[in-house]
Amino acid sequence: MTLRRHEPQPLGRRRALKIGAAAALAAVPLPALAHSPRRVDERALSFYNLHTDERLSTVYWARGGYVRPALGRINHFLRDFRTGDVLPMDVRLLDLLHEIRRRLGSDQPFHVISGYRSPKTNAMLVSLSNGGVAKNSFHTCGMAVDLFLPGERLSALRRVAVAVRRGVGYYPESNFVHVDVGPVRYW
Ligand SMILES: [Zn+2]
Repeated sequence: MTLRRHEPQPLGRRRALKIGAAAALAAVPLPALAHSPRRVDERALSFYNLHTDERLSTVYWARGGYVRPALGRINHFLRDFRTGDVLPMDVRLLDLLHEIRRRLGSDQPFHVISGYRSPKTNAMLVSLSNGGVAKNSFHTCGMAVDLFLPGERLSALRRVAVAVRRGVGYYPESNFVHVDVGPVRYW
């Protein structure tokens, strides 16, 4: 109750403005609604990187095409954090992530464990993993990412990725799902 009384004034004003804007929008004749800021022709993604502690939220596709600067930000975000190497990520992977989040109805950022891996990093992981890391991993082509989505069960994430029919690996003991845009296969 005390907190509520101390709620800062600007928030209240913003709320009032929002309601005002909604009321104004409702009064606008129908054709003008096509210019509403609530665009459906946009695809956004947001991420949190557990290794670098970085966050990214960006619209990577708008008005029928990919947004180049946004792709650049995503490529940098999903870089090999061990070497700093950047590779353009396959846009089909971004669309896959967008579709997974849409199907789950989530607006949470994907928590990323691994995106792009340089051949050097992958070779190192292969030698350490005792068979757990593939030599020709799709991570080395910018076609795979290991992640989880806060607020969603890992099994739900796997189920949705499988339903979209892509490469899906399930690692409940490490709390992540591997998704890639290579051939359809599950493990
Ligand atoms: Zn992986």
